[in-house]
Amino acid sequence: MSQRTFSIIKPDAVKKGHAGAILAEIEKAGFKIVSIKKVSISKAQAEGFYYVHSERPFFGELTEFMSSGPIFPMVLEKENAIADLRKLMGATDPAKAEEGTIRKQFAASIGENAIHGSDAEETAAFEIGYFFAGYELK
Ligand code: GDP
Repeated sequence: MSQRTFSIIKPDAVKKGHAGAILAEIEKAGFKIVSIKKVSISKAQAEGFYYVHSERPFFGELTEFMSSGPIFPMVLEKENAIADLRKLMGATDPAKAEEGTIRKQFAASIGENAIHGSDAEETAAFEIGYFFAGYELK
């Protein structure tokens, strides 16, 4: 059954001009792009998005980074989308990411790691709703 997930092309990848190449990888892997936009978010908006990480030592760095430049939030659809996107992204730390993954190819560090992808159905639902209104998801 077809499933939706949420992803963000992060500020580092947008700044380096890798957004198009990352989208090509995503489409090549069989995902349909349901919705996509280019936005810049405030630190407070990044804090709301990443509230589950608020107790982590890197929370300040993460939210500073995510509000440092334009990002491409998007909703993707395919069978097994959540797990398959996580596999395509690769490990959080690009040094540990498998060959051919997006983070292996485009990420510079564990913090500036090119792409976000939801880790479960409930988080995908929250994250889609955080960035997109119903009329944008047809
Ligand atoms: P993900 O699901 O692979 O994105 O990883 P996590 O959910 O564990 O962490 C969320 C995001 O926080 C990561 O994608 C990184 O951008 C950031 N992050 C995780 N660990 C670190 C860290 O040790 N230092 C910094 N600066 N950022 C981190």
